[in-house]
Amino acid sequence: NEQHVIMDETAIRRALTRIAHEILEKNKGIEDCVLVGIRTRGVFLAQRIAERMNEIEGTPIPWGEIDVTSYRDDRDSKEATAERVEGAKLSLEHLNIHDKKVILFDDVLYTGRTIRAAMDALMDCGRPRMIQLAVLADRGHRELPIRPDYIGKNVPTSKHEEITVALTEIDGKDEVTISQR
Ligand code: 5GP
Ligand code: MG
Repeated sequence: NEQHVIMDETAIRRALTRIAHEILEKNKGIEDCVLVGIRTRGVFLAQRIAERMNEIEGTPIPWGEIDVTSYRDDRDSKEATAERVEGAKLSLEHLNIHDKKVILFDDVLYTGRTIRAAMDALMDCGRPRMIQLAVLADRGHRELPIRPDYIGKNVPTSKHEEITVALTEIDGKDEVTISQR
């Protein structure tokens, strides 16, 4: 099972630096912006981008995380809506997203169902003024009308291929690879 490296440590670093600048340019600074990472690896991306934006602007930007597993439409969840909302609210407890420009982060964008679930969760937690999307890799095959505002790398894939994202914080190295399933 061959693995091909499509982004090495340097490529990932440059892509994240570019995205930090793109976010600042599009939003004309960081006013009213909050970053929200989708568990697991989206959280580290949000954290890294927050650090870079702070370095560039000299002002800290609020960031947090969200777990949207229970919001997915393809999961036969018996969890009651109230519990689901509580779970999402808890993970965003220290973050005020009401009337904010929320920038969502995920590692890989595929069908778009995770992002749809994340938008649902955000709406339940307070009404953002705007939601934008940043992903490290867009592998195509969308099943919903969702497109990212910020893309680390476009990776055209077949449905039999899989992308592996390794991030130093949990995987000990920064690397994006592609392999056959
Ligand atoms: P979607 O919900 O858009 O179908 O899939 C996106 C979610 O599933 C993301 O949270 C992402 O982590 C995961 N995912 C989907 N396809 C891949 C893939 O090829 N590689 C990795 N690492 N994650 C994927
Ligand atoms: Mg994921």
